[in-house]
Amino acid sequence: MRGVDDVPGMEPFRAKVVEPIPFTTRAQREQALHRAHHNLFNLRADEVTIDLLTDSGTGALSAAQMAAAMLGDESYAGARSYHRFREVVENLTSYPHVLPVHQGRAAERILFSTLLRPGQITLGNTHFDTTRANVELAGGQVHDLPCPEAADLDSPYPFKGDIDLDALHRALTGPDGPRVAAIVMTLTSNGMGGQPVSMANLAETAKLCRAHGVPLFLDAARFAENAWLVTRNEPGYGDRSPREVAEEAFRLADGCTASMKKDGLVNTGGFLGLRDPDLAGRCELLLVATEGFPTYGGLAGRDLDMLAQGLIEVTDPDYLRSRAGTTAYLAELARAAGVAVVEPPGVHAVYLNAGRLLPHIPPHRFPGHALACALYLEGGIRGVECGSLYLGKEDEHGNPVVSAPWELLRLAIPRRVYSQSHIEHVGRTLARIAQHTDHLPGYRITEQAPLLRHFKSRLEPVPLHTDELPATTDSTTPPNPRPHLTATAVPPRGTSAPSL
Ligand SMILES: *Cc1c(COP(=O)(O)O)cnc(C)c1O
Repeated sequence: MRGVDDVPGMEPFRAKVVEPIPFTTRAQREQALHRAHHNLFNLRADEVTIDLLTDSGTGALSAAQMAAAMLGDESYAGARSYHRFREVVENLTSYPHVLPVHQGRAAERILFSTLLRPGQITLGNTHFDTTRANVELAGGQVHDLPCPEAADLDSPYPFKGDIDLDALHRALTGPDGPRVAAIVMTLTSNGMGGQPVSMANLAETAKLCRAHGVPLFLDAARFAENAWLVTRNEPGYGDRSPREVAEEAFRLADGCTASMKKDGLVNTGGFLGLRDPDLAGRCELLLVATEGFPTYGGLAGRDLDMLAQGLIEVTDPDYLRSRAGTTAYLAELARAAGVAVVEPPGVHAVYLNAGRLLPHIPPHRFPGHALACALYLEGGIRGVECGSLYLGKEDEHGNPVVSAPWELLRLAIPRRVYSQSHIEHVGRTLARIAQHTDHLPGYRITEQAPLLRHFKSRLEPVPLHTDELPATTDSTTPPNPRPHLTATAVPPRGTSAPSL
């Protein structure tokens, strides 16, 4: 007899509250995309049927979290909610100093502007966008040292989030060694396609940090998903629970910044956890000045209670198994449709290799974006481009100056939101698109912002067979037959999604 526990990946919950999603016609989607100037960020969310833009703050709350919200204590100082939250975080992380913040980047800003002096360096497996921005705003520099396996999108190597330990050792002992102020390990590495970090790699990193007197911080946004993949794939961890692995990871570090919009299972929130009382005291001053009193840090009491409950729920192995199963299923449907994905698929998203699917669209005509628009037009599905629209640069005529290392489309999976039939709709839509891709147009930017252009820019389709652009290098630069291997003029920034 088949038991409940051997139905792989079945959701360990049922729905109690539902939210309608719109079913639109092709004509409505064409009109919406036109009005949005072909930028999916400009759509109204109620024009989207399946929204896979991000897994950040988009999850569903549990009944226990809703109940916890009602117990929220909204006292300005010393609220019961804070004490409950602090206890849960301290039990999980072992950090005695816990500063709540409104979201992850606030923790980064407070930590790095307190810790860093201008000219100092942070090293990491691959800093997330906002982490990099906050280090740079504090006058510091980031150096990313991803392991070599991370550069091969097709390799099934299970821990592509690892830091390159040889490179780390060289950096710490080299001429820049004295300028290194911290090591930041991002679990899982969002900037590297959501790839996990192994415990062996984290332990070696911690050892190097101690030997060189450099503090180690985790960027712990997806600590539970990282722990899950460790229990699945790391020798020696098969018998450990995700909760035990997560506790061990936090214990190896001196503190963490954490966006709880991911593995906190809440819509907003975050925290900064620290061991060093002196550093914590200095961070607390900035917290009071810019976020709120240290017992609420910009969050409502009810937010702290929902977060505390979310942190208890998120390491449930049945939840993590079903979540990882959803992502693996979507990856399987994509492969079956003939669309390559970044291997192995992580937990929070599937990254489609648009460069390989659409070889007729050169990087500066944005194959990832072309696939994003096709998915929306064909199936009302919204993803986010992670390629040259995000990381590239063109001159005033639209000719390429810098291309991204890969042309990808990220489909992020919100937590506890979509069912198997929603995922199957995405798979069927992809299969329809992949059947004939020749007619899919590229895009060109008609208007762009000086910063973070992917959020705001306006685009228009360019049919590539008749690319009738004025005298640009379209005539002199043949389309790259293997755009996913396009050389890049910037150090690879990985497969990061733009600040989400
Ligand atoms: C989302 C994210 C952040 C930033 O957190 P916000 O809550 O969006 O401010 C930092 N690091 C990683 C790895 C993230 O995924």
